[in-house]
Amino acid sequence: MEKKPFVTLEQIREIAKTYPTPFHIYDEKGIRENARRLYDAFSWNKGFREYFAVKATPNPFLLKILQEEGCGTDCSSLTELMMSEATGFHGSDIMFSSNVTPAEEYAYASRLGATINLDDFTHIDFLEKICGIPETISCRYNPGGLFQVKGEFMDNPGDAKYGFTTEQLVEGFRILKSKGVKNFGLHAFLASNTVSNDYYPVLARLLFETAVRLTRETGAHIAFINLSGGIGIPYLPEQESNDIYKIARGVQEAYEEVLVPAGLSDVALYTELGRYMLAPYGHLVTQVIHQKHIHKEYLGCDACAVNLMRPAMYGAYHHITVLGKENKPCDHKYDVTGSLCENNDKFAIDRLLPQVDVGDYLVLHDTGAHGFSMGYNYNGKLRSAELLLRENGEVQLIRRAETPADYFATFDFCDLFESFQ
Ligand SMILES: *Cc1c(COP(=O)(O)O)cnc(C)c1O
Repeated sequence: MEKKPFVTLEQIREIAKTYPTPFHIYDEKGIRENARRLYDAFSWNKGFREYFAVKATPNPFLLKILQEEGCGTDCSSLTELMMSEATGFHGSDIMFSSNVTPAEEYAYASRLGATINLDDFTHIDFLEKICGIPETISCRYNPGGLFQVKGEFMDNPGDAKYGFTTEQLVEGFRILKSKGVKNFGLHAFLASNTVSNDYYPVLARLLFETAVRLTRETGAHIAFINLSGGIGIPYLPEQESNDIYKIARGVQEAYEEVLVPAGLSDVALYTELGRYMLAPYGHLVTQVIHQKHIHKEYLGCDACAVNLMRPAMYGAYHHITVLGKENKPCDHKYDVTGSLCENNDKFAIDRLLPQVDVGDYLVLHDTGAHGFSMGYNYNGKLRSAELLLRENGEVQLIRRAETPADYFATFDFCDLFESFQ
């Protein structure tokens, strides 16, 4: 499918007068419509709830929008918990799906009344010593082996650091029950960025069967099953999008075939989607500031890998639109680069684009999740601003760009950088 930006050249020219490029911009309308589709698709399940994975896009203004659409948050660090708290999420609005968890983070999550999702059998004792065992708790499952969907390998849980083994889960539920747990949750995250309508249904069936077994063997009351994240998006224009209604129907079939006959017909389903909720509704907007003609043709942008790490880190594809040249033929081949002293700082290699001129604005698509949030400060580069395109067409600053003073802030114990403050 053709990828169309949600902003025009005219809009970006206007916005750039106030907020210079590069910046990330998010589309409120798209975010809300997508969240409503998700809730609609799963409306057959009474307790359904999406806990947005904060790590994907940790911005309180975006969390607020998702909160208004009924979502909670999924956190895995102290600052993600703090951001959820500051944004007005309370108690069971917060899922704490951490791993290798420091003691103070469990203590903080416990004080907030967040639902704790234990990553490991040994964390039962660890948690008990820190803050006691709550009445509601969840455990993360790792079935090991290879995870296949319709004969295709999706991922390799046997190599993943997360979760309890099956035997540990049975033993863990017994112990937790003896320590007073009344409501259990079961969680697994077995494949990432799946562009397939079958991932959730296959995962759900596995978790449902495990839940039935756990109920039989331990007498535990399973209150919810958390399908976690992993629904992907089509980064490539020729990829077909997931159909959330098909996905939800597939999960419903498994629910009716496995849980209902076992008497488990009141289990709530949770998700912890990150990418699916926001990735398509964010753009990284950058201006071409240089062109270079050596052994290849290079476009030099005012954004670089610190603003979007996925191409450098995973070789990930992000579609690029040259604003104002949407209908021109893509008959020029470029490497699209940033300014890091690091040769993998390329948003695209050998990408066919219309003829680009210095001063053109590029939209990098699908940067609304795992985009800004993976940013870093290599080469002393500063993080960009984040903007929100409101439903009424206004543009709101939702995070200012970093300044050198932010970069030097961790030297505030000495006076070397005082003149830059
Ligand atoms: C990263 C993560 C998610 C979200 O993953 P997406 O690929 O963005 O859907 C959800 N839950 C946990 C525990 C995670 O670590």
